[in-house]
Amino acid sequence: MHARDGAVEMEVIPDVVLAIHGGAGTIVRENMSEEMDAHYRAALTEALEAGYSALMGGGDALDAVEAAIRPMEDSPLFNSGRGAVLNDEGEVELDASIMGGASGEAGAIAGARTPRHPITLARRVMTQSPHVLFAAEGADRFAENQEIETMEASWFVTPRRAKQLERMQARDREGTADLAGQPVDEKFGTVGCVALDADGHLAAGTSTGGMARKAFGRVGDSPLIGAGTWAADATCAVSCTGHGEFFIRLAIAHQLHARMLHGRQPLPLAAREAVLEDLPALGGSGGCVALGADGVLVAPFTTAGMYRGWVTRDGEITVRIHGDERR
Ligand code: ASP
Repeated sequence: MHARDGAVEMEVIPDVVLAIHGGAGTIVRENMSEEMDAHYRAALTEALEAGYSALMGGGDALDAVEAAIRPMEDSPLFNSGRGAVLNDEGEVELDASIMGGASGEAGAIAGARTPRHPITLARRVMTQSPHVLFAAEGADRFAENQEIETMEASWFVTPRRAKQLERMQARDREGTADLAGQPVDEKFGTVGCVALDADGHLAAGTSTGGMARKAFGRVGDSPLIGAGTWAADATCAVSCTGHGEFFIRLAIAHQLHARMLHGRQPLPLAAREAVLEDLPALGGSGGCVALGADGVLVAPFTTAGMYRGWVTRDGEITVRIHGDERR
């Protein structure tokens, strides 16, 4: 697999206050109908509008991150909340995390099965408990205690994801399984957001069902602070998407911060070296959105496409899907 199939250059956009991703993968034009393309762009726009209006309404960066992620969790298009990918046993196990750059506080949940909005549960872990990460039944029990909205298992499972699992399992049974050769977007599709508020505070959040057909109990990078999510006002806010095991091993989100803080690298260089060089060198693929304290956004990815979008300070919204949409 190409280290950067389709990726020409990394996007570097100034004056951004909010950016999202909806997963990175082999998003090929020929495989996407005009209708699906339009659905994705509308859903990304809706999420950006929700995050931006939180900021305009006086919300802080954490409010904006939560507000932007919630509609994507409800959308069956993305791999988070409703429409999350299924594990090998046909069930959803939801991972999410959130971090504020002002205080360095963070909250996360892994392997939860009930919260309608995993990002909201992660934020409650941050604000309503002395802990950072709740897992599996502990996360679901915490959701109940917090009285946040929970759903039956059947609400999360969409026909598209059930079919996807069936297809993957059938290929395996027939001995034709070649996971590495499959379209990557079948396995990925996490959502994430980074935001910069009027007080100069950064925040980041990520929410996912993990990787399609993952083993029961597998946890990826998304709920792990420093791997899939990181925010520090002095440097940047980062939300990652891709093959989680590699993001964990490289602590990608924190690595961007460390390169800036200790290595004095500017964000675009830090992102290029971590995501476009170190990640593929190890055999991993994926991308991230990372927003600097100066409002510079970078959106590097090694895959053919990444659902992504951003809002500038003056409210201008951009959404992109394919790698070659870069200017
Ligand atoms: N990073 C996620 C995971 O490994 C998957 C994704 O980004 O789509 O769980």
